[in-house]
Amino acid sequence: MEYDDENIFAKILRGEIPCSKVHEDKWSLAFHDISPQTPIHILVVPKGRYVSIDDFSKNAGGEEIAGFFRAVGHVAREAGVSEKGYRILANHGRDAHQEVPHFHVHIFAGRDLGGMVRNTVK
Ligand code: AMP
Repeated sequence: MEYDDENIFAKILRGEIPCSKVHEDKWSLAFHDISPQTPIHILVVPKGRYVSIDDFSKNAGGEEIAGFFRAVGHVAREAGVSEKGYRILANHGRDAHQEVPHFHVHIFAGRDLGGMVRNTVK
């Protein structure tokens, strides 16, 4: 899948639409999810043009990957959720219901998050 420069996170990264920013560094931008599914729901996106984890893990440089994942941990610590716990999630593709085609990691926290995935259909 080709990267689409008109996706919503690309627009946020270019400053064309606003976000509720919690962190920014050389490699990443983190902001609150517009439709939170847990009391704390933060998205961390790389600044580079990657469609999903599949693209990022294949094509990003080592420094970029390290910088991005350091930012994920940093954001969680800054949000004060490291002690009680949190979950990170990255959707790739149709079966995972990925909505925005710019790689992002969700940080969910702020309550008991239950089991890992919905388990009604195997
Ligand atoms: P995914 O299904 O992993 O692609 O998740 C996309 C996430 O982006 C969803 O949780 C949306 O609520 C969130 N989202 C969509 N538009 C925005 C926006 N403008 N600002 C913040 N979060 C957004």
